[in-house]
Amino acid sequence: MTVQTQIVLSSRNRKKSAEIAELLAPHGIGVLSVADFPQCSEVEETGQSFAENAALKATIIAKQLGQWVLAEDSGICVDALGGRPGIHSARYSGEGATDESNNAKLLDELTGLPDERRGAFYVCHACVSDPTGVVRLAVEATCRGRITDRPRGSNGFGYDPYFLIPEYHQTFGELGVSVKRQLSHRARSFQRLVPQLVALLHSLSNG
Ligand code: IMP
Repeated sequence: MTVQTQIVLSSRNRKKSAEIAELLAPHGIGVLSVADFPQCSEVEETGQSFAENAALKATIIAKQLGQWVLAEDSGICVDALGGRPGIHSARYSGEGATDESNNAKLLDELTGLPDERRGAFYVCHACVSDPTGVVRLAVEATCRGRITDRPRGSNGFGYDPYFLIPEYHQTFGELGVSVKRQLSHRARSFQRLVPQLVALLHSLSNG
């Protein structure tokens, strides 16, 4: 019997999808992108939490395709902003937001704050829906850091050039992909999710 080793990823963000594919590849799990299925609609993120939005993205696409789907919702929560932008990280600076406009708004909001008041954390909630639209696995993890006052490095995406990992004295923009692959909110979520996903996919092919 063949082991199911592919799952559809419910994200159209190419850099995020690439990070996820890299986290799953060593375990023999390949990903297909929702972008390769033109019949799939854009899922509106109307949830009030990372968990609700991840579940919406996974279950709606799973039901549309009749396939197993992995989704994640992530963002950055800044202490001095009471946890904003949080679930609104992708569109923090409004309609048509880009990484540059989001980072400019973030810097503006933190103007004049000293290092000790620039704490922040990334969150990643990942979940897997079965083909009927039932969430079968869910995990969440965070990664703490500090927002710098100027961009440093060009690796990663989104807020990475401003997200300093104090232990390394470098931002995710400066640190190589191998460090982000170990330390990030997404890496930590997938470190928990992958063994459960492997077991689940195996149980399907054995069962
Ligand atoms: P989502 O696609 O709705 O989950 O939006 C996630 C948004 O959070 C991204 O567009 C980025 O702005 C931000 N974000 C999430 N993870 C990361 C990361 O690893 N690096 C930088 N920004 C991130």
